Amino acid sequence: MSNMICASFTLSKVGARRLTIQAASALRATEPVFRDEEYADIDWNNLGFGLTRTDYMYVAKCTENKEFQQGELSDYGNVELSPAAGVLNYGQGLFEGTKAFRGDDGRVFLFRPDQNGIRMQIGAERMCMRSPSVQQFVDAVKQTSLANRRWIPPPGKGSLYIRPLLIGSGPILGLSPAPEYTFLVYASPVGNYFKNGMAPLNLYVDNEFHRATRGGAGGVKSITNYAPVLKAVLRAKEQGFSDVVYLDSVHKKYIEEASSCNIFLVKGNVISTPATIGTILEGITRRSIIDIASDLGYQVEERCIAIDELMEADEVFTTGTAVSVASVGSITYKGQRVEYKIGDEMVSQILHKTLVGIQVGRIEDKHNWVVEID
Ligand SMILES: *Cc1c(COP(=O)(O)O)cnc(C)c1O
Repeated sequence: MSNMICASFTLSKVGARRLTIQAASALRATEPVFRDEEYADIDWNNLGFGLTRTDYMYVAKCTENKEFQQGELSDYGNVELSPAAGVLNYGQGLFEGTKAFRGDDGRVFLFRPDQNGIRMQIGAERMCMRSPSVQQFVDAVKQTSLANRRWIPPPGKGSLYIRPLLIGSGPILGLSPAPEYTFLVYASPVGNYFKNGMAPLNLYVDNEFHRATRGGAGGVKSITNYAPVLKAVLRAKEQGFSDVVYLDSVHKKYIEEASSCNIFLVKGNVISTPATIGTILEGITRRSIIDIASDLGYQVEERCIAIDELMEADEVFTTGTAVSVASVGSITYKGQRVEYKIGDEMVSQILHKTLVGIQVGRIEDKHNWVVEID
């Protein structure tokens, strides 16, 4: 037996989706008409941001120098890994995050899943991993969404958060790329970020910890970027803040982003966000908001932004798949706290409504971002 394929997943193989056959059409003995599954039996009005277990996950593997094999859906469950798996020992892993939305008429949409697939490929190159094709990536996200369709929240109640992972699953002892990779996609319903309308964030600018450095992996969605910021995040949360804003590690002067979302400021009619130069994760929401803001006639700038400028902004907001567009109510830096105006007529609220409208099929999708699945 090849010792390269020691890492294996224990999965029970199942058919595609659980489907119910409508009695009437079965009687007609024609092709069965499948009725949409009903919603899962959970309290859709109180969805938080925690993990809810769903029915299926998607798994595909790739051994050294080969293409990824065709993936399969299996029951959602634990995975089995060699203790020597590259991901466990050397952190060879990437994650992605995207969402499936239910439109008012029940149709299901994905938002720019190809961009997540492209980003996974760029990240895999940086982390010396094999990666699935963009087509396989998008197909896996579709299959996972449809198989877990009963977990996609009703319109207005939230969305299905989809988490694709790419890990070095093969065993390796010396410091070297793993001999086998596993691409896995699972999903969990999540609630709307704004439970009672506006929930402005209170951000803390950290002067000690940095998220990324030049030449590091801060620009890709490597799993190695997140455990190191937990300390900064927990410390800020203990003091009542929502998240941390990181400064560049060279000058400790220019803002980069928050722990898992990008940051924007508004001053007059100009919207600015830090330029991505390898230390900032290039968010798909960030890019989409830049385009939406330009479409709406705002001047948008991507450039170096000093912390002082952030403190003098009219408005500040963050963007990401999980948060969508979130208004910032205050920023605290070196003991000084500044508060920003918040309210319905804010630029961030206009951008948020436009983005969500496109995602659920309510506003014209002129950039062809939305993918309807069924
Ligand atoms: C995922 C992520 C973002 C947001 O990216 P989206 O594609 O908009 O979800 C921003 N910053 C970090 C560090 C992230 O991990």
